[in-house]
Amino acid sequence: MQQSPESGPSSGFDRQQSLQAIPKVDECLAALDQDRDLPGIPGTVIKAAVREVLAEVRQAILGGEPVAPAALRIGALLPRFHSRIRQMQRPRLRRIINGTGVIIHTNLGRSVLPSSAMEAIFEAGMHYSNLEFDLETGRRGSRYSLVEELLCELTGAESALVVNNNAAAVLIVLETLARGREVIVSRGQLVEIGGSFRIPDVMARSGARLVEVGATNRTHLRDYENAIGEETGLLLKVHCSNYRIIGFTSEVANEDLVALGRKRGLPVMEDLGSGCFVDLSRFGLMKEPTVQEVVASGVDVVTFSGDKLLGGPQAGIILGSRNLVDRIKKNPLNRAMRIDKFTLAGLESILRLYRDPEKVTETIPTLAMIAVPVATVDRRARRLLRRLRRSVGDGCSLTLADTMARVGGGAMPEQNLPSRAVALTPAEFSVNRLEELLRHEEIPVIGRIEEERFLIDMRTVADDEVAVLADTLTRVLTTGHC
Ligand SMILES: *Cc1c(COP(=O)(O)O)cnc(C)c1O
Repeated sequence: MQQSPESGPSSGFDRQQSLQAIPKVDECLAALDQDRDLPGIPGTVIKAAVREVLAEVRQAILGGEPVAPAALRIGALLPRFHSRIRQMQRPRLRRIINGTGVIIHTNLGRSVLPSSAMEAIFEAGMHYSNLEFDLETGRRGSRYSLVEELLCELTGAESALVVNNNAAAVLIVLETLARGREVIVSRGQLVEIGGSFRIPDVMARSGARLVEVGATNRTHLRDYENAIGEETGLLLKVHCSNYRIIGFTSEVANEDLVALGRKRGLPVMEDLGSGCFVDLSRFGLMKEPTVQEVVASGVDVVTFSGDKLLGGPQAGIILGSRNLVDRIKKNPLNRAMRIDKFTLAGLESILRLYRDPEKVTETIPTLAMIAVPVATVDRRARRLLRRLRRSVGDGCSLTLADTMARVGGGAMPEQNLPSRAVALTPAEFSVNRLEELLRHEEIPVIGRIEEERFLIDMRTVADDEVAVLADTLTRVLTTGHC
C-alpha cells in the first residue's frame, strides 16, 4: 500500500511497525547471556536494565520520535543495555572530588578520615571485637570506656560520653538536666544550623522551656541573673557556629556564667558546635577557645561534633563532671543514640593522633587542609594545569585563579583561607554543561561557577587526586560537546 503524502516518518503506520520491531526481553537476555563483559552481575539486575531500556524505546516511539528499525536490532541496543547495567550496579553513595574549597562540607561528607582510622574501622568490621567485653576481668564491659579515658586525658574533663551526633548530644543533655524546667539562653545564641538543627526546636523536643535573655547583640551577666527563678534548671551557652554578631556586642564570659551557676546551684552547659583541640590561629584563623580551655573554664557540660574540626567520624561528644555525665549515661535515650563499632573504632584512632598535637595538622586531613600553606596549594594547582594544557590543548581556556577557601561545617563563617583554583572555560560548550557533565562522571567532580568560569579549588583536592582529576577533566573536555 502507498503511504498517504501527509504521513511523515512518525506516522501511525511507521509507529506500528517500529513498535513491532522492538525485540522481546527474552531475546535480549539471551544475547546478553553470551556476553563476557557481565560476569557476576545478578540476573535480576540485567533483566531490570533490559526492561527499562525497552520501555524507554517504546515510550519514545509512542511519543512520535522517529526510530529506524535498524536502531531496534538487539546489536544496536546492546550498548544501551550495558550502560544501564553499569549505572544500576554503581553504588548510590559514591566518592567524589571536592573542588569547592569548603573543607568541612556537610553535603559532601564533612571530614575525610586518615588511613589509620580507616584501618581501625576495617578491623572492627572484619572481625569480632571486645566492643562490650572487658578483657581484664572477662566480664561484660562498656563500649564507651575505650574512648572515654582518651577524651578525659586529652581535654582534662572528669567524665565523657559519646552519642550519635552533636544534635543528639544537645538533646540528651537538655532532656536529662532540664526536662520540665527552664533553660536560660542569650538571644544572640538561638542558632539554626543547616539541616534542621535549631536550638529552640531541640529545646522543645527535650521538654525543657526556653527562656531568652538579653538583646540580640548584647547580653550581660545580670540578664541571666534576673531570669533565674524556681523553675530554672540550666544555663546554656551556644556557639554561634555559622554567623557572627559584630559591632556593638557583648557576651558573658564562661568564667562569670560558671560563677553565677555555682552561686545559684545551677549547671552550665556549652554547645561548642565544632569543638577543636588545637589552636588554629597560627594558620591565620581567628582565635577560638579550644575544648581544653572551655573545660578549664569550669563549664559543667560541653558538647561538640566528632566530624567537624575534630576531623573524625560523625559523633556527638559530651564532656563534663562525673555526676552529671553519669546521669546522662543512665538516660534511656542514651541507648537509642549509641554509636556503633565503626564510629568507635574511627574515633579512638583519631583521638590517639591528638596525643601528638604537633603532628595533627599533618595526620588529620581536616586540619591538614586548613594548615597547608597556599604555596603548596599553588603547586598542586599548577601541576593540574600543566597536565591539562598537554591533554586538552585549545579545547578549553585554562588559568589559575586566586580564591578563598573556607573551613565550613558551621565553623568560622566569615574567615577565609587564601587558596588557588584551576579555572576552566570550555571552547565548545557552556560552563553550565561542564558542571553538569562533571557531576555525572564515574568519580564526580564538584566545583563552582563564577564569572563564566568553572573553578576547582585545590585546597580540598588531595595530592593523589590530581591524576584522576586530570583524566576526568580531559575526558569531559575532549568529548563533552558530542
Ligand atoms: C553543628 C552544630 C550542631 C549539630 O551537630 P551535628 O554533629 O551536626 O549533629 C549543634 N550545635 C552547634 C552549635 C553546631 O555548630
